[in-house]
Amino acid sequence: MIATAEPTRRGRFAPSPSGPLHLGSLLTAVGSYLDAKHQKAEWLVRIEDIDHTRSKPAYAGQILKTLECFGLYWDGEVLYQHTRLDAYQEAFDRLAQEGHLYPCHCSRARVAATTTANGRYTQVCKPDRRTTLSPIASSAITSAWRFDTESFDAITLHDRLQGSLTQHVHQTVGDFVIRRRDGEFTYQLAVVVDDAFQGITDVVRGADLFDNTPRQRLLQNALRWPSPTTLHLPVLVEKTGEKLSKSRQALALDPTQSPALLSHVLRLLGHAPPTDLADAPVHAQLQWAIEAWRIERLPRQTDCYLSTDPALPTQQP
Ligand code: GLU
Repeated sequence: MIATAEPTRRGRFAPSPSGPLHLGSLLTAVGSYLDAKHQKAEWLVRIEDIDHTRSKPAYAGQILKTLECFGLYWDGEVLYQHTRLDAYQEAFDRLAQEGHLYPCHCSRARVAATTTANGRYTQVCKPDRRTTLSPIASSAITSAWRFDTESFDAITLHDRLQGSLTQHVHQTVGDFVIRRRDGEFTYQLAVVVDDAFQGITDVVRGADLFDNTPRQRLLQNALRWPSPTTLHLPVLVEKTGEKLSKSRQALALDPTQSPALLSHVLRLLGHAPPTDLADAPVHAQLQWAIEAWRIERLPRQTDCYLSTDPALPTQQP
């Protein structure tokens, strides 16, 4: 095989199986699929099921079936985070060995009492000198582990849709947990390890995660891994402002309605199909949308929210 200079571009959809795929997660899935396919990139699916209190295997199966009903076929094998614990441990040990982590023995009540009004952890557990631990010692200690953000400057990143974001993680969020007291690795670490492992070059996800990106950049930099580009799509909310995932709209999607639902989602994404395609089978709509996909057509509300009401206008190109 001839090596090419350009690495394979890869996007991904990474649902947490804490419920069925709903209209909001369908919008993210469709956005990331179209963005990848428009660029002739691969599109992978990763089931983010490390949080065993919220994840249910039955939902994972249901989400995958629903994606197929909408014509959203992924490349390669689905990656399940519950199979990746050794990789998270390896990254954790590297960070611990390089002095980026410290144990935090705070109870929830103590964290709440010592966190600033805007949610910043105030380092009550941080030792005077950084703790450097061997992998064996680090896995033996049952406390939460935080990433020490103090020595890092503000990070400025450029999102393909939302534009620039400058965040000083230490001043805004403080030292964040990457392994909880119960031994579970957190989303921040797992997402960075898996995006690197899967060679993801283009992250497309909900704008509710936009302000998590600087934390992920810090981890990528500390692990000396490349950072994918990002595109944070608007998050669907009810007209009341309630997050869709927490409302009655988070019900499972009816597969018999997939052409109409897909058409609705495409319209919300600023890519309303032409009239003759509005009720066409999902494959025909997707084929059209892959060609038509333009970042400039996407709605970019400053608050990052869209209405679910089909009657409300979405931004037109
Ligand atoms: N698992 C997250 C969710 O379902 C998405 C994480 C990501 O895309 O980085 O909201």
